[in-house]
Amino acid sequence: MTTTAETAAPLLQVRNLRKHYTSPKRWLAKAKPPIQAVDGVSFSVARGETLSLVGESGCGKTTTAKSVLRLVEPSAGSVRLEGEELLSLSAEEMRLRRRDLQIIFQDPYASLNPRLTAGDIVAEPLRNFGMGAAAERRERVQWLFSRVGLRPEAAKKFPHEFSGGQRQRLGIARALALNPKLIVCDEPVSALDVSVQAQVVNLLMDLQAELGIAYLFVAHDLAVVRHISHRVAVMYLGHIVEVADRDTLFSAPLHPYTEILLSAVPVPNPRTPARRMLLQGDPPSPANPPSGCRFHTRCPMAQAVCKEQVPELGKRTSSSSGGHWVACHFR
Ligand code: SF4
Repeated sequence: MTTTAETAAPLLQVRNLRKHYTSPKRWLAKAKPPIQAVDGVSFSVARGETLSLVGESGCGKTTTAKSVLRLVEPSAGSVRLEGEELLSLSAEEMRLRRRDLQIIFQDPYASLNPRLTAGDIVAEPLRNFGMGAAAERRERVQWLFSRVGLRPEAAKKFPHEFSGGQRQRLGIARALALNPKLIVCDEPVSALDVSVQAQVVNLLMDLQAELGIAYLFVAHDLAVVRHISHRVAVMYLGHIVEVADRDTLFSAPLHPYTEILLSAVPVPNPRTPARRMLLQGDPPSPANPPSGCRFHTRCPMAQAVCKEQVPELGKRTSSSSGGHWVACHFR
């Protein structure tokens, strides 16, 4: 049975998404097992909502987000935007659909063409989609600059002349240019100084409130996730193990892995005792994931059944934001 942690009227609906990497077969060499980077992930994102994907490095959160945009081609599953199946679109149809589906990258410098001025970088998507005459495009670029907090004269500068935070603002302006419905934010503040992170996160939240954009937000910094998210999905070794609205997940996590992850978040009040729990061992290889519950090799609550049976992602409580979903035999 495929279960899915859904919202009422999803903008984006992902079902049973898989991305398995197979290595090319060499003559006389034994075939290597595929790397199961993402293995049967289902979730949805509502209009104007922020759903965060969290988990350790290598859990599959970035691969999941890039698969939604088909920057990584999924091996199987379904990705629907406003009901339209994206995985069956031709390359040209997908290019046109990307108007509604944009991305902000982790490293703003690497994602900006160093030979173009900032104004040209932001105008490029408008030109590619034939939006407006040159004067209208200039006007739109000016509006985008002011909306992300860049001065109009910055349009003449090149990416290397900006600070890290300004470059990420430029990346956000470019992502906004076509008025998208959903933006994938791939660790958008993790390369920035802490002092700048809050400014960029608040900018993203202001833009969402003003323009109604949905975000699929990939991050490992749980303090940032707590600030920006409406709902959070926790991933472990290619599976979603828990989904809930932000407040429920942070105040009453159910999955043992989520509990351990959250115990590492600094407590702002020094009088509140920290109850740090440590994850035992390294994550297993996604080329050879453990049987049953993939977390059983590191779970402090594991029992015999955990090695045998895969726990379904099942709804534990209902709420207007989709309910609390967990994949654990004992929670
Ligand atoms: Fe731990 Fe078992 Fe629950 Fe998996 S199913 S999280 S191993 S208790």
